[in-house]
Amino acid sequence: MSKIPTVKDLDLAGKRVFVRVDFNVPLVEGAVSDRTRIKAALPTLRHIMEQNATLLLASHLGRPKGQKVDSMSLRPVAGALSEELGAPVLFTDAEGEDLRRTISEAGQGAVILLENLRFNPEEESNGADFAAFLGSLADVYVNDAFGTAHRAHASTAGIADHVEEKAVGLLIEKELQFLGDKTAAPERPFTVIIGGAKVSDKIKVIDALIDKADTILIGGAMAYTFRLAAGGKVGDSLCEPDMLATATAAVEKAKAKGVKFLLPIDTLVTDALDFGAGTLGQTEIVEGDIQDGWEGVDIGPKTQELYAAEVSQSNTLLWNGPMGVFEIEDSSKGTFAVAKAVGESTATSIIGGGDSIKAINNSGHADRVSFISTGGGASLEFLEGKELPGVAALKS
Ligand code: AMP
Repeated sequence: MSKIPTVKDLDLAGKRVFVRVDFNVPLVEGAVSDRTRIKAALPTLRHIMEQNATLLLASHLGRPKGQKVDSMSLRPVAGALSEELGAPVLFTDAEGEDLRRTISEAGQGAVILLENLRFNPEEESNGADFAAFLGSLADVYVNDAFGTAHRAHASTAGIADHVEEKAVGLLIEKELQFLGDKTAAPERPFTVIIGGAKVSDKIKVIDALIDKADTILIGGAMAYTFRLAAGGKVGDSLCEPDMLATATAAVEKAKAKGVKFLLPIDTLVTDALDFGAGTLGQTEIVEGDIQDGWEGVDIGPKTQELYAAEVSQSNTLLWNGPMGVFEIEDSSKGTFAVAKAVGESTATSIIGGGDSIKAINNSGHADRVSFISTGGGASLEFLEGKELPGVAALKS
């Protein structure tokens, strides 16, 4: 892979820098209710501001589908960003030549936040005119929105053809370092913990990681598909009967490569799961087969111990996906046991996926983790080995 410049490689003094950020923040009654993504962008923005550059910030928010939707305006983000930066932020919903004029009038060194890019239908369709227009606003293009880097949109891909100097921001640089470099040449043993509902969602990642890892630990409902494929019974557990051949192929590939591929050895089962009410009926721990009328909802205590032991012996860890229905307290123990084991480990640890991030945050161990990937779909596609359009565009 040719080296992709980072924002620190460029001389930005006096230049106009267009930064594609991820300000897709939650809004409650017109105010930003969680500033995590705004705070995450600050190191890149501060670095650019220290160079006396003009900052043009652009993001999407929600899914307005090419229409102007007032409740999805980025206007409330400007105030929150200004407080975090300790500097004025000019918000503008101007378009076309009005926008160009607004930027000129704001003057050198200004910080300008543009309106939601997805109000324009050409953003998601990567329209040539919109991409060229966005590119014409700046001397330098920086992409720091990892969450949309797997999409070829006007502001993540098309724009790059119209700006001479381009680079990744500090957030994407870190994602590439941890999800890419640290898993490509991991300090061994390298253990991957994969959970969640479906084999079909994660099979490509599992397949790619069998080539890199020493051990793979499977949890969540996807374990039942693997179990069924191995000839076991899973009762009423959530599983994907049409994925049995795929699951078997993954297990065989792991065997051929000498990769330890572990399934749960015991399971918390229930005779009634009410997700809405957050309750389980009767529960039991079973080893081996699950009988009809019962469904698996979490890994059992022996599996928790086994997986924690594997984690403690590892020097690189990657965790994505919950071990059970962790939203319900009685079936959250397995996920929290993994969170604790990862948090207590001295390995390089990488966590991705909204549920695993929530679990590590709630477990109080988040600050012990080496890297929390914010990418969602982008993280999974990158781990699958796909080239992300938002990163590839910065290479030329
Ligand atoms: P994913 O989006 O694939 O990471 O899956 C996350 C979802 O899988 C969570 O909402 C969990 O509640 C759900 N899940 C995990 N284990 C189970 C299980 N044993 N039965 C049903 N749902 C599960």
